[in-house]
Amino acid sequence: MISDIRPAHVEAVPRALHRLCFAVYCAVSATAACSESSPSSPPNAPVGQAGTSAGGTTSVGGSSQQSGSTSGGAAGGGGASVTAGSAGASGASGSAGSAGSAGSSGAGGAPMGFEGGAVAAVSLTYDDGLDPHLAIVQPALEAAGLRGTFFVSNFEGVEHDWALPSVKMPLSPLSARHQAWLAAAQEGHEVAGHTVNHPCDAAGKAPGFKLADYDLTRMQNELDESLLRMARLGAEAPLTFAYPCASDKKGLGAAGTDYSPLVAERFMAARVSDSGIADPVTVDLLHVPQLDAGGKTGDQLKKMVDDAIAAKGWLVLLFHGVGEERASCPGNLAYAPQTCMINYLTTSQEAHAALVQYLSEKKAQVWTAPFRAVATRIDDAR
Ligand SMILES: [Zn+2]
Repeated sequence: MISDIRPAHVEAVPRALHRLCFAVYCAVSATAACSESSPSSPPNAPVGQAGTSAGGTTSVGGSSQQSGSTSGGAAGGGGASVTAGSAGASGASGSAGSAGSAGSSGAGGAPMGFEGGAVAAVSLTYDDGLDPHLAIVQPALEAAGLRGTFFVSNFEGVEHDWALPSVKMPLSPLSARHQAWLAAAQEGHEVAGHTVNHPCDAAGKAPGFKLADYDLTRMQNELDESLLRMARLGAEAPLTFAYPCASDKKGLGAAGTDYSPLVAERFMAARVSDSGIADPVTVDLLHVPQLDAGGKTGDQLKKMVDDAIAAKGWLVLLFHGVGEERASCPGNLAYAPQTCMINYLTTSQEAHAALVQYLSEKKAQVWTAPFRAVATRIDDAR
């Protein structure tokens, strides 16, 4: 199941922590952030105008910072050809070991023209900016020469700057957590969009932050603010997005208003809640399906990779937590993985390691690259 809807027991403690964090934040930050019901936002700032220049320097509100190289996350050069037949992109159940229609077609097709002549692509995506993404996932990927995509938001957020730093002026210093994300981007991982406050209809969501509480204007402002916040973490255009909590299906407000046009104006690709392995030939880059890695075993994850190879498709794996389930960090939202690990909807560390090992072994057949890199490759080939 795609959504970020968490069990009630997972919701309860973080909400309390959010209140604590927000109170601390308000005590040390500009008062505006604590008195506004809607964060002040920049003018409509589509990708490329979010203070990010091509030269690798990002600027936020007049302050600039070097974002460093992102060579590991870069798409390959031009000349890609995407010529094979359908890989069957829809209808997957996402159940253990199943990749839906993957493998039902595409057999016998020509190579996809992915990086290095691989016939399939895999993007490892991790949602919500959780502690294990920094402490467990990134070292594991880097040891294998791989890079991931991290859809970062202020989990269950209520306008604090837990993962995404504030852009209120004057800018506050980056926290240890923020600096860890900046370092990740500099190592070639993709820091990508997931809204700021993660609106969600899950039980226990903070009042005022359910999808039903949003309208297009509020979401537009929040997406624009997310671009600025991500720029402080070294995210560079073009940026990609993942809809939180199946909001691609549920929409905003009582009427369930579709906000995908706002996403399309700001992001070059987006992951949606549909399950499946994408067909690189036909996939709508703003509606890319995924398979949920939550709770899967190593063998089940490897089977998904095999299915992607058979289908000559693009497998986007969705992770939340990795490692031991952990719903609380008592009294502490700082980045302190030795003592605190906010971790939910987990995949075991062993299963994740088995997948990473398998992707290393399959490099000749599978191009493992960030979501943006694969989307860019496909887009360039069209
Ligand atoms: Zn999420």
